[in-house]
Amino acid sequence: MTAPRLALNDGRSIPQLGFGLWQVPVGTTAETTATALRLGYRLVDGAAIYGNEAGQGEGIRRSGLPRDDVFVTTKVWNSEQGFDKTLRAAEASLKRLGLDHVDLLLIHWPCPRKDLYLDTWRALVRLRDEGRALSIGVSNFQDPQLTRIIAETGVTPAVNQVEINPRLQQPSLRAFHARHGIVTQSWTPLGQGRSFATAPVQAAAKRTGRSPAQVILRWHIQIGASVIPRSTREAGLRENLDLFDFALSEAEMTAIATLDEGLRCGPDPARFEMD
Ligand code: NAD
Repeated sequence: MTAPRLALNDGRSIPQLGFGLWQVPVGTTAETTATALRLGYRLVDGAAIYGNEAGQGEGIRRSGLPRDDVFVTTKVWNSEQGFDKTLRAAEASLKRLGLDHVDLLLIHWPCPRKDLYLDTWRALVRLRDEGRALSIGVSNFQDPQLTRIIAETGVTPAVNQVEINPRLQQPSLRAFHARHGIVTQSWTPLGQGRSFATAPVQAAAKRTGRSPAQVILRWHIQIGASVIPRSTREAGLRENLDLFDFALSEAEMTAIATLDEGLRCGPDPARFEMD
C-alpha cells in the first residue's frame, strides 16, 4: 500500500513514509533505491555527506517511475553553510543526482557556533524561488534557531528532520512544529532497537501480530510524523513499508509514550559542528 501524504505549509505534500540512505554503500545505492521504489516507497532521503547521491539519482531512473512520482530529499552539509557556498553546494548535489530539482532541500545541522544557518536559510529560500528545490526545510534545528530564521526571513521551514524514537520523543519540539505547521520527520526512527524488548512494544506486537519495528514505525505514523527507516535488505524494506493495514490503540500509544527518556542515539544538535 502506498503511504499517505502529509500537507506541507507551502501548499505541497510529503509522503509519510520514506527510506533513508545514510550508510548505504555507494556501490549498492542505485539498486537499493530502485528496489525500494519498486516495492512502493515514494520518498528517498539522501544527503551530500552520505556520499551516494549519484546512486540515489541513478536508482530513481532505474525504477522506471516518472520523476514526479518520487519525492527526493537531499541536505546541505555543515562545511557548505553560508549563502554563496550553499548555492554552489545545492548545484553540486543536483549534478550528482542528475536532477534539475529536488523535492526537499534541508540544512543538515544548525551548527549554532558557526552561526551561518541564517544565511544558509536565505540561500535555500533563493533556491526554492528558482525552482531548484520545491520545498525547503531544516534538520536538527531546535526552538531558538527555528524562531530566529522564521523571524528574520518570514519563511517557515516546511520540515524539521530530527531524531525521534520511543526513547527520544521530543514532545516540546513537536508542539513547536505543530504551532508553526512544520512537519516533523523522524530520523533513526527505530532507535537502534533499544525499545524493541520493552513491555509496551512487545504487548502491541503480540496483539497486532506485527514485529517490534513495525509497531514503532506505526507509532511514528500515528504521532503524525513522516518517517524514514533504513534497510538494505529487501525483506526489511518490505517489512517497514507494511504499516498501513493495522493501527495501535490509544492505550498502546499512551504506553509507548511512557518510554521517553530524552536519550539520544545521535549527536546533540546544540553542540554538533563537524565539517
Ligand atoms: P533506522 O532507525 O532506520 O535504523 C536502521 C537500522 O535498523 C539498520 O541497522 C537496519 O538494518 C535496522 N533495521 C531496519 N529495519 C529493521 C527491521 N524491520 N527490524 C529490525 N531491524 C531493522 O536508523 P538510521 O539509518 O540511523 O536513520 C534512518 C534514516 O534517517 C537514515 O538512513 C538517514 O536517511 C536519516 N538520518 C538523518 C540524520 C540527520 O541528521 N538528518 C541522521 C541520521 C539518519
